[in-house]
Amino acid sequence: MTKKERALTSVQRLKERYPDAICSLTYREPLQLLIATRLSAQCTDARVNLVTPALFERFPTLDAFADADPEEVGEYIRSCGLYKTKARDIVAMANKLRDDYGGVVPDTVEELTKLPGVGRKTANLVCGDIYGKPAVVTDTHCIRISNRIGLCDNIKDPYKVEVQLRKLLPPEESNDFCHRLVLFGRDICSARAPRCADCPLQDCCGSFKKNGAL
Ligand code: SF4
Repeated sequence: MTKKERALTSVQRLKERYPDAICSLTYREPLQLLIATRLSAQCTDARVNLVTPALFERFPTLDAFADADPEEVGEYIRSCGLYKTKARDIVAMANKLRDDYGGVVPDTVEELTKLPGVGRKTANLVCGDIYGKPAVVTDTHCIRISNRIGLCDNIKDPYKVEVQLRKLLPPEESNDFCHRLVLFGRDICSARAPRCADCPLQDCCGSFKKNGAL
C-alpha cells in the first residue's frame, strides 16, 4: 500500500468511525479559539474548557483583553500551567490584533503566526475551524499516529509532518481528519496502550504490519 492509499483509507475509515469531527475546545468567536488554543499548550482541552468560561466572562471583548493586566489574566488560567507566559502572550496578542489587524483575527497561517504565542498548530486550527481553509493541525496525536500508520517515516518535527500530510491528504478533508486523529488517539491509538486488536486501521497500518500489536 502506498502512503497515498494509506492516507485515503485512513481518512475514509475515521470518517465512518467519528462522523462528528469538531474541535474539543469550547469557544464562541475567533478570538476565543485563539486564546483557548494558546492555553492548551501542555494542558488538556478539558482543563482549558474548565477555565475559559470565567476568563471570557471577565474579559468579554478584544479591548478587555488588550487592556488587561497580565497578572489578573494569569489568575484565571493558573491551572493550565505556564500561566505567566500564557497570560503575557494573550494580552500582547490582543494588543497586536487591535493595533495591526483592526481587531480582526487574520485568516492565513503566515499572518496568524506573527501574533505573540501563536505557532503553526494554532494558526492551522483557526484557518480550518474559523475560515474553512485546508488545514493540518499537527498536535501530539497527529504526529504519533501519522508515524505509526506510515504516513510519515519517523518524523517528529511538527512542521515536517504538516508538509508531508499536505502532500497526502485531500485538502477538503485535512482539517476534519486531524480532529478525528485526536478522537482516535484518545479512543484507540493512544500513546501508551494502543488497542490494535480493535483498530479500524489495522490492515493499513504500517506499524502493525511490521511489528504486530504494539
Ligand atoms: Fe494504532 Fe495499532 Fe491501529 Fe496501528 S493498528 S493505528 S498502532 S491502534
